[in-house]
Amino acid sequence: MSADYDAIVVGGGHNGLVAAAYLARGGSRVLVLERSPVLGGATRSEETWPGYTVSTAAYVCSLFDPRIVDELELRDHGFSAYRKEPASFTPLADGRSLLLGSDNAQNAAEISRFDEADVEGFASFERNAETLGAEVYAHLADDEPSLASVDPAIRDLFETSVASFIERFVATPVLQATLATDGLIGTYAGPRDPGTTYVLAHHYAGRIFGEQGAWGFVRGGMGAISGAVASAARAAGAEVRASSEVLSIAERDGSGRLEVRCADGSAYRARSVLSNADPSTTFLKLCDPDALEPAFVARVRGWRAEGVSIKVNLALGELPNFTARPGTEPQPHHRATVHIAPDVDYLQRAHDHARSKGASAEPMLECFMQTPTDPSLAPPGKHILSIFAQYFPYSTASRWSLDAKHAAVRTIVETLARYAPNLPDIIEDWDVLTPADIEARIGIAGGHIFHGELLPGQIFEHRFPVRTPLAGLYLCGSGTHPGGCVTGIPGRRAARAALADLRAAV
Ligand SMILES: Cc1cc2nc3c(=O)[nH]c(=O)nc-3n(C[C@H](O)[C@H](O)[C@H](O)COP(=O)(O)OP(=O)(O)OC[C@H]3O[C@@H](n4cnc5c(N)ncnc54)[C@H](O)[C@@H]3O)c2cc1C
Repeated sequence: MSADYDAIVVGGGHNGLVAAAYLARGGSRVLVLERSPVLGGATRSEETWPGYTVSTAAYVCSLFDPRIVDELELRDHGFSAYRKEPASFTPLADGRSLLLGSDNAQNAAEISRFDEADVEGFASFERNAETLGAEVYAHLADDEPSLASVDPAIRDLFETSVASFIERFVATPVLQATLATDGLIGTYAGPRDPGTTYVLAHHYAGRIFGEQGAWGFVRGGMGAISGAVASAARAAGAEVRASSEVLSIAERDGSGRLEVRCADGSAYRARSVLSNADPSTTFLKLCDPDALEPAFVARVRGWRAEGVSIKVNLALGELPNFTARPGTEPQPHHRATVHIAPDVDYLQRAHDHARSKGASAEPMLECFMQTPTDPSLAPPGKHILSIFAQYFPYSTASRWSLDAKHAAVRTIVETLARYAPNLPDIIEDWDVLTPADIEARIGIAGGHIFHGELLPGQIFEHRFPVRTPLAGLYLCGSGTHPGGCVTGIPGRRAARAALADLRAAV
């Protein structure tokens, strides 16, 4: 005998939790089943080492929808975010570096040390990137996303390479490369590959700090978002259960209800089931693909979702000492995203090398440290350095053996140590998420951080719809519009659809 709910959410990632909160506030009896003992999926914090709160996967925040913060009253449940300032720091091997933030005069001083003409070019780039981001933002929460609703000139730009977009504005190699990284995050494409301008636009689409495209940190680490949403969901009456892996979702008895079966033998039924799992897990593993249209199954199998990103989290005894800006006392550049991206060719080579050799020899790195602005995350005097690195494809020939994992960490640490030579000696502990670990620990098949590429062909109406071909099954994770990043929007869109259908059925 299986217990009955109005709605069951499979997966307690931040989107599943957002869906549950909206459903419960809409009056539904809701159960969330999360396979991991930790809630939040890729939006989680863990005590990786005693006394440290580590944002295991996602680290910085911009796209979390301010409408969701207001509607779910998340500030009352502990949500608080603050802007990252300065925004970026890119050291070079010759001892020069570029530090950019929100202060126009300081940006001008930094850029003119390389090329006076790029001061105006950078301002123009920022205006144009914000315009792209604002256009994406305007459609983030659309119930029926359609590229036809996007400004035609901007839609055309989505198809172009991020390098060609940036080269229209600035010429300084390190500035070009620093700006290009937003077009590459999570994506198995190089800066000269078409479509990467959309990835850049996506990373400028956030408005959590009121300013288009600004990024920042969540107080207490990224898991604090999921914690606040879970608290709001529970306060509205949702049951949220961790360590509850779902094995199958099926319509079994012609009752119009779906049955969800768990690894512990329990089973539950509901008129609506919302899957927070990625498309491949949802349709090929949890559902019986034979019960779905072959054309739909072919689309799922053809979905581009090979992860290429590695996250290395390090416990440090002191701050990295950059040759370009020496010192281990906290300085502005320690608060910024540290890019290892000297020029666009370096980034393209990192990509091309992975395609031909299975991994980047000299990877693109984005490094973050929240401890200089939130010391509560580590024991006194200690720091956490998160390194997000590409390209390390999921399907590498090594199948991510322990040796391959250690080799990748070595490559990443050695690459950063060329710019901050004290790095190897100050590492006190480490943890790594390869694409294979993202699959095993976070539960995303193929380890793609966005549940599938955010390139043209997989954006807007070309992501999976929230209403799936199996009646009563909705997709509420990043496989649906607007895709990956910590937005909460797939969860909100799916809950709205499920609530509308539940009401229509009464
Ligand atoms: C390493 C990394 C770094 C990132 N950095 C950033 C960043 O800094 N900023 C940003 O905005 N975005 C970042 N992202 C992307 C962002 O974190 C994700 O796009 C987003 O968190 C996905 O949320 P989701 O709720 O859609 O899915 P997920 O977080 O994948 O959640 C899905 C949940 O479903 C659960 N599940 C799956 N199968 C089952 C099952 N059978 N039974 C029960 N539960 C199941 C999983 O365990 C998981 O908890 C990063 C992602 C990764 C992996």
